[in-house]
Amino acid sequence: MSFAELKQNKAVAAQLASLLQSGKLVHAYLFVGGKESRLQMGKALAAAILCGSPHEGDACGTCLSCRKFAHGNHEDYLYTDLETAPGNAKTQIGVDAVEALQEQLKLKPFGPRHVAVIEEAHLLNTAAQNKLLKTLEEPAGDSVLILLAEKKEALLPTVVSRCSTYFLEDEAVLPQEAETELARAYFTLCAGRSLFYQKRDCLKPVLEEKNDPRAKAASFLECLLMLLRDALLFPYTQDRSPVSRDWDSFEEVCAKTDPEKLKTAISAVEDAIRSVRLGYNTGYTLKKLCLDLSI
Ligand SMILES: [Zn+2]
Repeated sequence: MSFAELKQNKAVAAQLASLLQSGKLVHAYLFVGGKESRLQMGKALAAAILCGSPHEGDACGTCLSCRKFAHGNHEDYLYTDLETAPGNAKTQIGVDAVEALQEQLKLKPFGPRHVAVIEEAHLLNTAAQNKLLKTLEEPAGDSVLILLAEKKEALLPTVVSRCSTYFLEDEAVLPQEAETELARAYFTLCAGRSLFYQKRDCLKPVLEEKNDPRAKAASFLECLLMLLRDALLFPYTQDRSPVSRDWDSFEEVCAKTDPEKLKTAISAVEDAIRSVRLGYNTGYTLKKLCLDLSI
């Protein structure tokens, strides 16, 4: 499994590969999404981290480490889910599973580091999550923990705040041209300190969507999120997602943004995406964003 093989969430994969290539590896990741997309992203990241000769931040697919990973017998890859977790309670992942993982992480890895994946992290009970906090705060060696979850809300805020979090799309949806254009226009307005009504008017195509307002809003917000992440990371990675890549004014607009405000804006847009997915009123969510968002 490699980032290049992924059929969806290409922008997230590109960002991760770019961060890995520049050595910006963090100790904990959280991928929120459907089973298929989060598992694929988790495995692709694990393979890329473990690869002995990565190519542009992605797993090479041919080195010994990649071959072991593909055969499911990599010594440094630790995988936990509800089914494999110790204990009899098969509705949640308990403390014993986290303790077992912590014991494994204490052992010396075969290569440079362990990579541990916890699938169905939303099923970790509160005690298990509290136990996990210790590993998140003081990781064993250079180990990397990858949490895969259906929803972020099932995790304690203290756990989430220690992870680098990415929201994944479950269908093969590439940014739509209309939503890409809209996100760029909106981003430009926000960077230009525009007024509430100007931002609201810009969002008319989404606010007045009749067929599937939630899908339209989610698609717009995903594009906006990519732009915000691009704006924050571009100075370091020189990499861009498809939403900003062929946009000539991108750097000019980014120059007007403040990195600290971008971070807050990313959280606000992530919250808005969650609200839309949970079925909250899209009009209300978007208007609230118009009031809150400042970059
Ligand atoms: Zn490799």
